Amino acid sequence: MTVARRDVIIDEAPIFETIAASQKQSASLVRDILAKAQELHGLAPDEVAPLMNVSDPELLGELFKAASEVKEAIYGNRLVLFAPLYISNLCANECLYCAFRNRNAKVKRRALNQDEIAAEIKSLVEQGHKRVLLVAGESYPDEGFSYVLKSIETIYATRSGKGEIRRVNVNVAPLPVEEFRQLKAAKIGTYQLFQETYHQETYKKVHLKGKKTDYEWRVTAMDRAMEAGIDDVGIGVLFGLCDWRFEILALMQHIGHLEARFGVGPHTISVPRLEPAVGSQMASHPPQPVSDVDFRKIVAILRLAVPYTGIIMSTRETAKMRRETFALGVSQISAGSRTNPGGYASQEKEDEAQFCLGDHRPLDEVIRDVASLGYIPSFCTACYRLGRTGADFMDLAKPGEIKSHCSPNALSTFMEYLIDYGSAESRTQGESVIANSLAKMDDVLRAKTERMLAMVREGQRDVYC
Ligand code: SAM
Ligand code: SF4
Repeated sequence: MTVARRDVIIDEAPIFETIAASQKQSASLVRDILAKAQELHGLAPDEVAPLMNVSDPELLGELFKAASEVKEAIYGNRLVLFAPLYISNLCANECLYCAFRNRNAKVKRRALNQDEIAAEIKSLVEQGHKRVLLVAGESYPDEGFSYVLKSIETIYATRSGKGEIRRVNVNVAPLPVEEFRQLKAAKIGTYQLFQETYHQETYKKVHLKGKKTDYEWRVTAMDRAMEAGIDDVGIGVLFGLCDWRFEILALMQHIGHLEARFGVGPHTISVPRLEPAVGSQMASHPPQPVSDVDFRKIVAILRLAVPYTGIIMSTRETAKMRRETFALGVSQISAGSRTNPGGYASQEKEDEAQFCLGDHRPLDEVIRDVASLGYIPSFCTACYRLGRTGADFMDLAKPGEIKSHCSPNALSTFMEYLIDYGSAESRTQGESVIANSLAKMDDVLRAKTERMLAMVREGQRDVYC
């Protein structure tokens, strides 16, 4: 087998070879790989490949079961919640799948001013959100990139009642190192960027204009972010553009590169599937659609391959698909999302949106649903505020210790949500999941968590360990 070259981040030849070689996998090989994955040390690309070909229902069931067990061992029953905040849909690029693409006349262009951003944040805070993902097209108003920096400042400075946003993650176009340094200084949480497709030829076909045509500039973005000191980075693929098997193995190469160069891989992986978008034929008819079964397989395989990396599931997917993937490995979800700038403060203007959503439910309904399934919706933002990022986070996460911080923090922030923003039904549902979670803890952890919960009930906010 050809070994991936070290001088490139993505080396396509070994990926195709691995896919071809994995066609002849046996059930016993798959079972051996699943047993290895359950040791929680992750998998190598040639171990991931046979899992991608599993189609026998019994073996598929075993794959899903193994992923659920790994998810439970590392993350317990927590699901971290966030909302995307679209500040602008101006864009100089021509990505054929996206409604914001430059030549799309069907979308009304809008960049929110700082007052409008504050209004959006108030609306999100009043729903109970604590984390936002700032999103923008690749073109800024006259002030240039400082528009993004100002927007982050506005988000952190805006309060409503007892609430505020405590972590701003950012999904904007790749930057030079110096601007990544400015992002870091603005105290962002994770810098997130999707390669869309790692396959160079496909990449070229779907990106027709602007800076985004440069594959190299994009695939090296995380290197520059990490060089600038941002140690929580989030990667992803837009599934539907190219063969998903190729993309998974390429993701593995990207992760391997970051681990080799910086000693730590990505903090999160996102798995967006192409959704219909106004003014995009391609989005309604993906070149290589990913079926629902394969999509669940993608989540399960990633959970086994990189057990300590968070997996993010957005509201592109339906409530049903989101529910199914929670157990398979998802650790973060968006809720109550709008993908049009200004969409939270005013409910109209869908003609400014980026793509169609699969899950339109408001935050409180998602919370109730998640809790009814036995998960703890978490609004925790402790790690990055305590400097537990990058390699420090991974060191803590690896022995499973993160649970002793994350579980109490999840419960205290959930309690805060229930008291300050939850509907009566959510409160009833929530109190019952909190009680169940406490019952499962050992005495020391339970005592610590109960103390934190008592502080929240007495009126303290932002209680974390
Ligand atoms: N403009 C920046 C960029 O392209 O990286 C950042 C923001 S862009 C709005 C965020 C992501 O939306 C893209 O990386 C892409 O994966 C996703 N996206 C675009 N069109 C989509 C569609 N039709 N369905 C699902 N996701 C889509
Ligand atoms: Fe612009 Fe990003 Fe949409 Fe491409 S995906 S058109 S860069 S907003």
